[in-house]
Amino acid sequence: MPPKVRLRISSDVDASECAKINWHPELQILISKAFLPSLHQEVEKLSPALIRLAFASPRAQKEGQTAILSAVEDIAISFVLLHELFHLMGGHFGWLSKHRNIDRFDERHLGFALAVRSRRRKVHVAAPGIPANSPSRSAMTTSYVLESEADCNAIQWLTRYSVLAGLRTLLRAKDSPMTDFAPKHRQAAFRLALAAIWLVIRRMESSRTTLIQSSSEEHPLPITRLFMAFGTFVKEYSAISDISFDDHGGGYHRLSDDDVTSMREFLMLIMRPVLIADWNPDRETVSPRSLEAQMSIYFPDFANHMLDRAVSTVVGKEMIEMEKARFRMDKALKPFRYFPTAELRRLKR
Ligand SMILES: [Zn+2]
Repeated sequence: MPPKVRLRISSDVDASECAKINWHPELQILISKAFLPSLHQEVEKLSPALIRLAFASPRAQKEGQTAILSAVEDIAISFVLLHELFHLMGGHFGWLSKHRNIDRFDERHLGFALAVRSRRRKVHVAAPGIPANSPSRSAMTTSYVLESEADCNAIQWLTRYSVLAGLRTLLRAKDSPMTDFAPKHRQAAFRLALAAIWLVIRRMESSRTTLIQSSSEEHPLPITRLFMAFGTFVKEYSAISDISFDDHGGGYHRLSDDDVTSMREFLMLIMRPVLIADWNPDRETVSPRSLEAQMSIYFPDFANHMLDRAVSTVVGKEMIEMEKARFRMDKALKPFRYFPTAELRRLKR
């Protein structure tokens, strides 16, 4: 049986961190008190972009103005809760508390706390030019594997099993998970879910920015984490069930013609509109290092990877590296898991 967990609203967690897990003296998921009002404010500011993702006609856009806020907030909050629950259910906290002497699990420090601790022992072998407190590449990758796995499992639950009241009201859809919506509603629901989750990951990653910048290693890991989440959306949208993994974690998606058609549909009708929407209406330009800029730059290579074509960029290569690292971590995490591994033994649909 999984351990008992308490859910608390806390003023000790800031709005960009969203939530954290404490396990001393008792297991608690702490949701940031500031997260909810801050999310509301952000969604309100972005509502013109969000409503266009839901409806094409100006009349429907006007009618849906109010409902869009609760639909997107509902998805974002459910995602944060599921993400934290999967840190518990997926054995991340069990593995961490057994192998590392730390007693909290927060979205800001996780990988860095691991990395700095292990680095202290190895500081004499640090490569020249890398500051002593900079996290090692492998610790960063492990950290992101855990984050990515919590994201991907949360997305699977959201799309396959969750009945999201806000979305149902907005789209006047039937009482079912979004994977079972009629095609038009399904497309709108996936666009909004993709947007809501992109906003949450941008928020969580913004809380790590200073720590990431203090690392001298150039790495595109936050964008890889985001693309891994988008990859789960593609698979859920396209209901791809036939994925097998070799001993090194290399995934083989034996894609049928129907798979390719529905994946293309996802890339063009779901993902593209989300990528080209204006997520910074109060700024004239966005930095090329920002996640929003990188989403567009690396989108073609993301499509290459999804459609089983060779990748050509550092992010494409890193997605493959991350999939393999996730496979290796799955073995380490197995004794602590509270469910059979969902991602590697996919449900047949
Ligand atoms: Zn997390």
